[in-house]
Amino acid sequence: MFPLRRVYIKVIGIVQGVGFRPFVYNSAVSLKLKGWVKNNSEGVFMDLEGDEKSLNMFIDNLRGNPPPLSRIEKIELEDMETINYLCFEIKNSDTSEDKITLISPDIAVCKDCIREIQDNNNKRCKYPFTNCTNCGPRFSIIKSIPYDRDKTTMKKFLMCKFCTMEYKNPADRRFHAQPNSCPECGPELWLEDIYGKIENVLNPIGFVREKLKEGKIFAVKGIGGFHLVCDAENSEAVRSLRERKKRKYKPFAIMLKDMDVVKKYCIVTEKEEEILSGIRKPIVILQKNPSIHFPEEIAPKQKNIGVMFPYTPLHILLFDNELEALVMTSANGYGLPIEYENESAKKKLKDIADYYLFHNRDIHIPVDDSVVKVIKGKMRIIRRARGFVPEPIIVNNIKPILAVGSNMKNTFCIAKENFLILSQHNGDLDNVETYENFIRNIEHFKNIFQFSPQFIACDMHPDYLSSAYASESKLEKIQVQHHHAHIVSCMVENKLKEKVIGVAFDGTGYGIDGAIWGGEFLICDYRSFERIGHFQYVIMPGGDKAVKESWRMAVSYIYEAFKCEGEGKVKSIIEKLYGDKGLNIIKVLKSGINCPKTSSMGRFFDAMSSIFGICHESDYEGQAAIELEAALELKISANEEIDISYPYEIRGEENFIVDASKAIKKIVEEKIILNKIEKGPLKIHNTIVHIIVDMCKKIRNKVHINKVALSGGVFQNSYLLRKAIDELTKNDFLVYTHKEIPCNDGGLSLGQIAVANEFIESSNF
Ligand code: ZN
Ligand code: FE
Repeated sequence: MFPLRRVYIKVIGIVQGVGFRPFVYNSAVSLKLKGWVKNNSEGVFMDLEGDEKSLNMFIDNLRGNPPPLSRIEKIELEDMETINYLCFEIKNSDTSEDKITLISPDIAVCKDCIREIQDNNNKRCKYPFTNCTNCGPRFSIIKSIPYDRDKTTMKKFLMCKFCTMEYKNPADRRFHAQPNSCPECGPELWLEDIYGKIENVLNPIGFVREKLKEGKIFAVKGIGGFHLVCDAENSEAVRSLRERKKRKYKPFAIMLKDMDVVKKYCIVTEKEEEILSGIRKPIVILQKNPSIHFPEEIAPKQKNIGVMFPYTPLHILLFDNELEALVMTSANGYGLPIEYENESAKKKLKDIADYYLFHNRDIHIPVDDSVVKVIKGKMRIIRRARGFVPEPIIVNNIKPILAVGSNMKNTFCIAKENFLILSQHNGDLDNVETYENFIRNIEHFKNIFQFSPQFIACDMHPDYLSSAYASESKLEKIQVQHHHAHIVSCMVENKLKEKVIGVAFDGTGYGIDGAIWGGEFLICDYRSFERIGHFQYVIMPGGDKAVKESWRMAVSYIYEAFKCEGEGKVKSIIEKLYGDKGLNIIKVLKSGINCPKTSSMGRFFDAMSSIFGICHESDYEGQAAIELEAALELKISANEEIDISYPYEIRGEENFIVDASKAIKKIVEEKIILNKIEKGPLKIHNTIVHIIVDMCKKIRNKVHINKVALSGGVFQNSYLLRKAIDELTKNDFLVYTHKEIPCNDGGLSLGQIAVANEFIESSNF
């Protein structure tokens, strides 16, 4: 016999709403340990008594094998005097009014549940709403807290005897699974066409599969909203979806049946496989397999494609042996939030979908699919929503701040106790619908996290709707410069506090001099920043028009590069390349009307895309730059990336200005004289990397800082990020990049919160 031992264990981290107590219960009971377990806002606490060996096994299991959704930050153990507990019990949570209750994201259907829906002898065979403690909807169905069935959209379904038994049994996989249901008591599916309900279909999902094979388009209600769905292998269907959605080029995401199908269509790394089949199942950007034909309409002019795995039982049931690839694109009107309510979907999607597959498990809060990319072996979240939100970031002592983020790819962020919680992707706040959705989501976060902000942080941009929201609130307002927020978001993610060199490259951000910044080199910490260098300003002829029409930026850059060679020469070059409309832009440039200045890296890439003849006008945000990246001719297998590049200049002693005129001149001369540009996209990417390294070296020499943080939407470019990390590392820099938090404006609110918190702490609020 081993001696009796009693240990008090505190587990700190993300341990609530992730099935931690049942895990402890089952583990303790199987090892014949006695005592109790309970939650409070700090974490999970347990008091365990048993023989030494079993206790050690329990602790090893806790460390090595915790529930998949949990994230343990710290385990504290304290030996106590034995008191001979008689049994093991789950105690009620300590709830206090204003303490935060963490909520799990929506999690993809687990292996056990998949087994059940595929088992002819199981009660839940083919049941599309099967879920358990380890999987299923959470965040999207919770109306308020505490997280009980009554406070979710599952309230209207009364659990049958069978489900109740599972729900009440601590040893069952469905113990306290709030959305638990079965065909007898749970939600149901039904079909409609544009005229209304289709009756007498015995097998609605079978009907969907047959119609998809005929090329029909469905609006299918999922976990966080509706998708528009069609057979991805049917070009005709995909083309017709594009036409009806009025979406010319923006790539569609696809859902593939299993890993064999993924491997048929795409080149997939081990890390990518792991994410595709993991518990969150975001859209993963993969490289298309060039030797297999895939309808070009899915992702025109792209080498990559967004792929996800079926993540609900319903999705799994949509596939069969003849249907193995589906287009799955968010169902929304252009620029509008995703549809998530049956009645509204029916109205808004009637010109797009042939049929609807509805269900009656209401979605309380819409959540889009998340999008990730693997760069240098690490997952990088590009769009953070389903599967990740509202998982918190743990910090020390933070003031109750609401940060409202950017206008583009909006997310907001709340700070409470030791947690920062970033909202789901809210889209671009440039119409009433997305703005209302943003406000509704803020109210929802205040409600479910019992959050009452005392401060509000926002961007400095005078025209952002998010900033207008901040101005209207009565809270103390703190404005944060856009690129400062970008770099700090990267610092928070990497738990950095000391000063860094920040390289912030993006499309648009309001600068303190009123110009549009976006090619910035900062020295900063949370408190403040110094703009130590930037790309030389050029003019955006026509203002916002130059964002969509990349050829305008091309003309502006060419004009800037050649203007010192005389008016005649610059005119003839621009006329040769862009004709009369190019000459008109020269007039605009000279008039100075609607001609803001910019140092934007996004606009630089746009200009290059047009000069290389790749994309002159963007149909969706970032198209010109994305296609420029897609035009890179890399022999990835041979890992052969010749370090060819263009010339450039860096001017200044105190402040460093990057002048790319020499590169532009070289490209234009090649184009006009030789009518051929040799590896232009590769050379320009390499040039930008050289500029980053050179600038960082100059800055390091001056201020002796060796840490570099890379942020801003431009770093979604895989080649650029990979190469920048490699080259900076070769030059002995410590490089910090984004993983969990988007490098684009989707991560901005996180940086705003940290800057605001520092400001509040150092001021006397
Ligand atoms: Zn499950
Ligand atoms: Fe930005």
